[in-house]
Amino acid sequence: MNAINKEPVRSDDIRALDAEHHLHPFTDTQALNNKGARIIERAEGVYLWDSEGNRIIDGMAGLWCVNIGYGRKELADVAKEQMNQLPYYNTFFQTTTNPATQLAKELAAVTPGDLNHIFFANSGSEAIDTIIRMVRRYWEVEGKPWRKVMISRNNAYHGSTIGGTSLGGMSAMHKQGGPMVPGMEHIRQPYWYGEADGQSPEEFAQTCAQALEEKILQVGPDNVAAFVGEPIQGAGGVITPPPGYWAAIQKICRKYDILLVADEVICGFGRTGNWFGSQTFDIKPDLISMAKGLSSGYQPISAVAVGDRVANALIAKGGEFFHGFTYSGHPVAAAVALENLRILREERVIEQVRDETGPYLQQQLRERLGGHPLVGHIEGVGLIAGMALAQDKSTHKLFDSNLDVGTICRNHCFANGLIMRACGNRMVLSPPLVISKAEIDELIDKALTCLDLTV
Ligand code: PLP
Repeated sequence: MNAINKEPVRSDDIRALDAEHHLHPFTDTQALNNKGARIIERAEGVYLWDSEGNRIIDGMAGLWCVNIGYGRKELADVAKEQMNQLPYYNTFFQTTTNPATQLAKELAAVTPGDLNHIFFANSGSEAIDTIIRMVRRYWEVEGKPWRKVMISRNNAYHGSTIGGTSLGGMSAMHKQGGPMVPGMEHIRQPYWYGEADGQSPEEFAQTCAQALEEKILQVGPDNVAAFVGEPIQGAGGVITPPPGYWAAIQKICRKYDILLVADEVICGFGRTGNWFGSQTFDIKPDLISMAKGLSSGYQPISAVAVGDRVANALIAKGGEFFHGFTYSGHPVAAAVALENLRILREERVIEQVRDETGPYLQQQLRERLGGHPLVGHIEGVGLIAGMALAQDKSTHKLFDSNLDVGTICRNHCFANGLIMRACGNRMVLSPPLVISKAEIDELIDKALTCLDLTV
């Protein structure tokens, strides 16, 4: 008998087993065990159903990843077909597979500029670790092995491996399980609403970019390997850079010949209304990391797209790069990702985000939630948005994070059939890219109810 169709297990039994055996990521296990995990049983489109039969609108596309929505049978069919034909083979030892090669070709075509070379991994964190090693290796090959320093931003999230945690700028993460990897430097984030101290967005963009130049000069330009940034900081609270920020950052990287890396794990595959956030913000990165939307979360797969400059040097002068994962280019994950890309392209999902649903979500959020007493500011592009919850809107005074007003709001959402995430005193949204205008209306109705309950 098929395991999924076995006798139904009682929800309370699942919760008891979960408490006994399952350590959840990013979770206070004791607190969770006291109330028991919510069990998600099935999903379709933008909706989830839990074991109590409640229908929940998923304002987060899982973890910013289910871009084509739930229940796309084509992906399950492709996975089954590929598993029957070739469930696994590695790409290490002079071999390749058709799905991995086809996917590399497709990704080279949809990524911006000359990112023509693709390295596969399984998660965003692994993609970031690959980038850390790859850019340092690049400088070794170029005869400058001292160029090791990686610069990112405070409150940036670049994954949970030791490399990703160290590169990321989450102070709570740095405090646990250290020491962190040396050679990581952090500069201020471009959080205009919360940290601009009266500067206009344009002035603040320059101030934040200047922080990069100051850091480079402090470390010594010839010691810096790369600057890494998400086009929009997702897990940091959807921090959307003010106008001029990326142009100024890019100019500084070029001035000091520092590689520019875009972490597109969240922004990639249509989230901001283009294939990549780099296109939305006119960034020309030397490398990008991608995961999540690459397979719409249907299979774990990630990749690093590498520009000609870095790839050609590594190929011509680097010899063997001692780096890779057993499942790099996994044929089933690659086949599923290819089908996901086909759907994104043929159903014009990204164009719809750019022209219809993205502008609609942004406009409706501002119109319907912007005047709410709790909402200080709304920012975002396409189908990603963040709301600062403010104590005093006139002075931009945010709630003390200890009050955890975001968590209170998030809990109301959870109880009221909406998944929205709290990042400190910010609430964030990132629904499946196939969400309709009517579903956006429903999502905003529910968010409004939850904000009212939070006041
Ligand atoms: N980079 C960014 C920008 C992310 O948002 C994430 C995950 O949310 C990661 C890297 C790490 O990805 P993963 O959780 O797949 O390891």
